[in-house]
Amino acid sequence: MLSNDIQEILVSADQIQHRVKELGEAISRDYQDKEPILVSILKGAVFFLSDLARAISIHISLDFMAISSYGDSQKTSGVVRILKDLDEIITGREVLIVEDIIDTGLTLRYLLNNLEARKPASLKICTLLDKPFRRIVKLPIAYQGFEIPDKFVVGYGLDYKQRYRNLPFIGVLKPELLEDR
Ligand code: 5GP
Repeated sequence: MLSNDIQEILVSADQIQHRVKELGEAISRDYQDKEPILVSILKGAVFFLSDLARAISIHISLDFMAISSYGDSQKTSGVVRILKDLDEIITGREVLIVEDIIDTGLTLRYLLNNLEARKPASLKICTLLDKPFRRIVKLPIAYQGFEIPDKFVVGYGLDYKQRYRNLPFIGVLKPELLEDR
């Protein structure tokens, strides 16, 4: 069974659902009378996005980007290739980036610069998980679900070699399952 590969659960399914509700309420309050566009990065963040969107009680729209890091998929260089760009034009729109995890911050910094150039009315970040210990670039995080230690986590959208995304919680893999990490 999938969960047999997990050494430790860092954030339980209940904790996630409770926090996502709170984030949805905060976003609904902060963007009252506005209609933000939630921009999510495929594929990891879509689990979070789909729960978060349903916890938001104002009008929103959704859009997606797909990116790929150059080189080793487990280490970020910050230089990303855009595989799928947004469908919508975001100029003058309120944009909220919905991310699963921020580690060094390099990936998101690159995306922020890219999206800022399109002159949105506002551009904010909502991340489920924040690993601040390895942060290289400062990022303005408006909404954060949980701060977690510097461990490689899987579940609730986060993968290891494309597996484990469908775990309902955030956990740490047994070390013997991790190659060269
Ligand atoms: P950053 O550019 O902030 O260092 O890295 C961000 C990306 O690296 C995330 O979007 C995610 O794809 C990946 N990443 C960073 N930490 C983890 C982790 O603990 N688990 C998984 N599965 N991916 C991670």
